Amino acid sequence: NEGREALEYFLNELQKTVREMARTIAEERILPVRAELDEKEEFPWAIMKDLADTDLFRVFIPEEYEGLGGGCLELCLVVEELSRACPGVAVSYAGSLLGSFDLLKYGSEEQKRKYLPDIASGKRLAAFAVTEAEAGSDIGNIKTTAIRTDEGYVINGTKQFITNGGEADIYTVIALTDKARGARGASALLVEKDTPGFSFGRKEKKMGIRASATRELVFEDCLVPVG
Ligand SMILES: Cc1cc2nc3c(=O)[nH]c(=O)nc-3n(C[C@H](O)[C@H](O)[C@H](O)COP(=O)(O)OP(=O)(O)OC[C@H]3O[C@@H](n4cnc5c(N)ncnc54)[C@H](O)[C@@H]3O)c2cc1C
Repeated sequence: NEGREALEYFLNELQKTVREMARTIAEERILPVRAELDEKEEFPWAIMKDLADTDLFRVFIPEEYEGLGGGCLELCLVVEELSRACPGVAVSYAGSLLGSFDLLKYGSEEQKRKYLPDIASGKRLAAFAVTEAEAGSDIGNIKTTAIRTDEGYVINGTKQFITNGGEADIYTVIALTDKARGARGASALLVEKDTPGFSFGRKEKKMGIRASATRELVFEDCLVPVG
């Protein structure tokens, strides 16, 4: 309890508010359904809506893109509270930040204005895709390519174990834009769900966090326009 009081002292008003809000959602909305979601391997859309309605997707987005201007600590406070009730729900929520991170850090102003407000409102979920069958810990071994053409980048390859795969609308995909440079020739591309040439493969059957979706992403001559 002493540790908790010490932490309390250092939290600002926003941090205390988001933590309380996340706790309320965990206790009132997640606890009653968590066993069923897990049993059925059902994506928690109703809870994602609760998190959106209570502005919790806004915590990690800067204010100029309709967020609340928080960062990693605010995100952790929410994830901690949600995880007390159901880590599967917490991972689905956190996956949207993971999918927004490169955009926040390296996206163009145009890309940020286009995507971040919808991610902040929870209208659209994001996902991050780097892992492949032969590239997990050994992430420098990715094989997916994104070749520049006059029309844009053409992506080919398969990503594996992608959180929010199939459920998210916006995907940050890591692919080789310069194969000769190996891992240093990798770039992050934003791909929208309904882009031709982009489809979803197997959904994993897991031993835990079963409310979260973990799925393959398949790219076959998927053309991504240059923003
Ligand atoms: C539920 C879930 C959600 C995920 N979500 C995402 C996502 O959203 N986006 C994404 O891109 N990826 C995601 N991943 C993939 C995750 O990042 C990889 O599983 C992780 O990088 C490990 O890779 P791997 O599974 O291929 O295991 P491997 O790399 O094959 O490792 C297997 C085991 O071998 C050990 N090992 C590996 N290399 C060495 C070594 N050199 N020396 C000693 N031990 C070693 C590892 O520690 C591990 O215990 C997810 C995975 C899971 C299970």
